[in-house]
Amino acid sequence: MQTHFTADQLADPLIVEADGILRNCVHCGFCLATCPTFIVTGDERDSPRGRIWMLREVLESPETITTDTAYHIDRCLGCLSCTTTCPSGVDYPHLLDIGREKLNEMVPRTFTDRAMRQMLGMIIPHSGRFHAMIQLAWLGRLFSWAMPTAMRAALTKIPAQLKQLDPIGGKNAIFSAKTKRIKRVALLAGCAQRALAPEINASTIRVLNRLGVEVVVRAEAHCCGALAHHIGEATRAHDAIRAALLAWHDEIRTGGLDAIVVNASGCGTMVKDYGHMMRDDPELAPVAKMVSDASKCNARSVTETSIPSSRIMTTIAPGISIPADAAIEPGRIAAAFGSCGLAKTLAILATANVISSHPNRRLILVSGRGRVLNVTSSKTASVPYEPQISFDRS
Ligand code: SF4
Ligand code: SF4
Repeated sequence: MQTHFTADQLADPLIVEADGILRNCVHCGFCLATCPTFIVTGDERDSPRGRIWMLREVLESPETITTDTAYHIDRCLGCLSCTTTCPSGVDYPHLLDIGREKLNEMVPRTFTDRAMRQMLGMIIPHSGRFHAMIQLAWLGRLFSWAMPTAMRAALTKIPAQLKQLDPIGGKNAIFSAKTKRIKRVALLAGCAQRALAPEINASTIRVLNRLGVEVVVRAEAHCCGALAHHIGEATRAHDAIRAALLAWHDEIRTGGLDAIVVNASGCGTMVKDYGHMMRDDPELAPVAKMVSDASKCNARSVTETSIPSSRIMTTIAPGISIPADAAIEPGRIAAAFGSCGLAKTLAILATANVISSHPNRRLILVSGRGRVLNVTSSKTASVPYEPQISFDRS
């Protein structure tokens, strides 16, 4: 793609980076077929190619930005599905980061939009507040008929069952290995996950402990900062990243860490990118690089290195084997679901290989299409999830 930045614009290092990314796009459109928002709306402006075109306009001619431009860019889920199908290797995620930062400075947002963003940024990254909000939302469902469409659609995503808040991550803790300690890792407890799926961290810790891995959880590293980053709240995102980096650096210095384990694929992608995001910060750059190199088990590391997740697990815990009593009884079926990021970046297939290499297993992989979670857009927020059975291994 041709670009026409002025010399003044190219004095900004972010514009130089964006220019390099934009020039890689050849407008072939291969990415369209794998973009969930384009599949749902069929609108070029909701496709990666359309967004790249609009991002070029945002950066080249900020005076041409309209709320319509922001609307279609805001609808991007950041699922990275397009990056794995792009034959030219367009670094769309970093272009989107730059574009969002600029958009947030320039676009005139409505009061409701600004209020929604503020609310999301103040509540979701704090597990306790988010848990309380889910409880309120349960009550709110009774009055959903009186709410705006986007909020009504968001209420349909509230879990059918109210769960206790996951205590893991509320304070610093060390979970010791059940056998001879062979590795030591830090676990990002996360924010929304602690309220929505409180069993995941406990399960991860049990498995790792059983494999001889000590798990450290630091309360300061409670949120990776992705939510604030994706809605353009740079200061809030920076504070979350700084807190996590300093806590993990402290652990690396004192007890040593072999890896940073992240359960949520979106958070894993964010932590993996800390090195890039903090590269110009004299205090945090070296720490961020160290942390990015140590983050494991996330989609992007699998794609970048072509290392199957089974190998990543082996790196964390050498000698890993699935215990015999974990076998699935003959005739029973296990199903694994890959989120859009994981499914598209093949991590789930690699995980399936670990499970299916065991006798007595029958595994079905289910992949999602059009499972759209953008609560700032009423149209895409109301798209139902339609599971597809894509793979049956027996
Ligand atoms: S596949 Fe890549 S090069 Fe082709 S239009 Fe999409 S982003 Fe551009
Ligand atoms: S990140 Fe996902 S939603 Fe956004 S343009 Fe790429 S494929 Fe579409």
